[in-house]
Amino acid sequence: MKTKEHGVNTICTHVGEVADEQFKGAISPLYMSSSYAYEDVAVKRYPRYFNTPNQEALAKKVARLEKTEAGLIFGSGMAAVSTTLLAFLHAGDHVVLQKTLYGGTYNLVVEEFSKFGIEYTFTKGFAENDFISAIQENTKVIYVETPSNPLMLITDLSMISRIAKERGIVTMIDNTFASPINQTPTDFGIDICLHSATKYMGGHSDICAGAVAASEAHIEKIWNIAKNLGGSLSDYTVWLLERSMKTMAIRVKAHNRNAKKIAKWLNKHPLVNNVYYPGLKSHPDHELAKKQMKGYTGMLSFELIDSIDAGVFMKSLNLVKQSMSLAGVESTILSPAKTSHALLSSEERAHQGISDNLLRFSVGIEDKKDLIADFEQAFAIVAKKNFEKTIS
Ligand SMILES: *Cc1c(COP(=O)(O)O)cnc(C)c1O
Repeated sequence: MKTKEHGVNTICTHVGEVADEQFKGAISPLYMSSSYAYEDVAVKRYPRYFNTPNQEALAKKVARLEKTEAGLIFGSGMAAVSTTLLAFLHAGDHVVLQKTLYGGTYNLVVEEFSKFGIEYTFTKGFAENDFISAIQENTKVIYVETPSNPLMLITDLSMISRIAKERGIVTMIDNTFASPINQTPTDFGIDICLHSATKYMGGHSDICAGAVAASEAHIEKIWNIAKNLGGSLSDYTVWLLERSMKTMAIRVKAHNRNAKKIAKWLNKHPLVNNVYYPGLKSHPDHELAKKQMKGYTGMLSFELIDSIDAGVFMKSLNLVKQSMSLAGVESTILSPAKTSHALLSSEERAHQGISDNLLRFSVGIEDKKDLIADFEQAFAIVAKKNFEKTIS
């Protein structure tokens, strides 16, 4: 019997749950066993084989959310990214990577790939021609990340899957920033979805985990190397992540709502130069974002006017804390120039559009009025300092 497709909140709450046959408890029981009696020699359960009851349950939830046949849960986002890339790339192969990627992924490629004899090219931009001109005879994978960090630039997923399919190339996306709630890459033909579950999936800044969702055949290929690399997640954390994901859809929608309102408010503020949020009509990729995203995420960046010291501004915030991580229920802010992009030369940062006064804001689920009040008082402090400078 074909069941009607459930809504996203129902999928988050129920899909994959482990039935508690013994006591009929409401939630999945936690199985911490690292040893299981053989049911059959072909089915050996073991945490590093990614097949404990809790691991399999959560993988089902992720797969359903990404509309794929299967999934795997990893010990970190980078474990998912590295294992998946290495599953599809062998010595002599080539991968095309989008110009702007998460720092850890960039480091994995430039610090490790030459040891494995894997060739790579970073695109010059986000357009079709930038990708096509980077493809070689031996290209096996195209890897993208959209929206990208920190300017929230959007890569056209339909375009990527079309140029890849024409050439028999596998496509991978890091879907962390969007979360499965705001973007379903497989709807546009992307093969493999990767996540740092540390971010919106976990959502409470207390879990480090990763996930991948793809077809049965692709997951089998990833599993074959995953069991050797050993990047599985402890069942206790898998179980916590299952709990977190029950509220993911309502959390992400709250992040989306707050971010859109705050982006609009910042966009009108006299001490702000630019706001980068794909939900704003002024964002260069707004139309593309509208086409392929269901919500615009809780992530945005904005640039303070030149005369303001961004460090003083951030220190003046009370509710909003400075933090490297993102996508928690609490709002956090950072300076890309001082943190994620600090190792680039100032010319390279300028080339990428990352000024010293650019701030990345991970909008939490606090009340919008309290976040705006915190910004107001910080703006008042920096404005007063500027006034004192002009009269002294
Ligand atoms: C955090 C992050 C990662 C890495 O995830 P970890 O869980 O820290 O290993 C990968 N991609 C993006 C976009 C991220 O934000």
